[in-house]
Amino acid sequence: MKNIKHSNKDTIKKLGWSFSRYDVFINCKRKYFYDYYSKFDKEISYDKIQMLKNLTSKTLIVGNTIHIIIKKLLSRYQITRKPLNINKLFQYSFNIIRKNSLNKTFFETYYNSERINLMDIYIKVKHCLYNLINSNRFKWIISNPNIIAQNSRWIIDPDGYGEAIINNYKVFCKVDFLFPLNNKIYIIDWKTGKQHKQKHKRQLIMYSLWAHKYMNTLVEDIVPKIVYLFPCYNEYTILICDEFVHDFMNLIKYETNHMYQYLTDIDNNIPKSKDNFTKTTNTFYCKYCNYRAIC
Ligand code: SF4
Repeated sequence: MKNIKHSNKDTIKKLGWSFSRYDVFINCKRKYFYDYYSKFDKEISYDKIQMLKNLTSKTLIVGNTIHIIIKKLLSRYQITRKPLNINKLFQYSFNIIRKNSLNKTFFETYYNSERINLMDIYIKVKHCLYNLINSNRFKWIISNPNIIAQNSRWIIDPDGYGEAIINNYKVFCKVDFLFPLNNKIYIIDWKTGKQHKQKHKRQLIMYSLWAHKYMNTLVEDIVPKIVYLFPCYNEYTILICDEFVHDFMNLIKYETNHMYQYLTDIDNNIPKSKDNFTKTTNTFYCKYCNYRAIC
């Protein structure tokens, strides 16, 4: 599981498909330009665009904190089965929130002059953690002897960007939690935001495709699950089959080629001029966009 192959020499500079990249591309080409090609902007300084890009938000801090804590929690269960000290865990989560928010400008403050109260973020994080720890799924994972016996094979939110090659295309794909049980591979993706089953299903199919390729696992032996932690625990298992995976490989090809159309040099990932990246007409999407100040 450790020797996941990364991009080869031919694909190093090429743009890599990811679920989030194509999502931005399809929703607003201008935002996509600011997110991925800000150094090519001739009107607005790179520093200004980066500053806006790096704005954080209460939602982002909740998501990041939960992912850090769950990673820590599961890593702990790889070495010990001692019961958890919940109060310590909550205290630790508050420290992470503080650390994650330090020296950061919040979207809510920048655009709405809101004064951020870290306690509001903490309440949501605590709620998500409470839902996770009390879920039957979590109890099952940490108490099933067959899962625990293979804990050295768990993949828990690995470092890096998860660069890989699928069907000769560069992709970015990073699972939250993957573990084997008998002849099956379980993949879990934790969500703290709104439930978008159709959108998240695509993400899980991608992870399954990755596991199928890099872990030599039959498609029918992969069990991908979306887990929503807020406002209450809800999980959905995605049923996949060979046909799905095959269609998805074609989709990656189609979507990558779609993004290539906005480049003048595909091999070196050089974009066309900014005016080709049109602004969305969906004002609702703009409402939550970091780049409102320059758009
Ligand atoms: S403000 Fe709206 S149009 Fe401008 S980049 Fe953001 S989403 Fe696109």
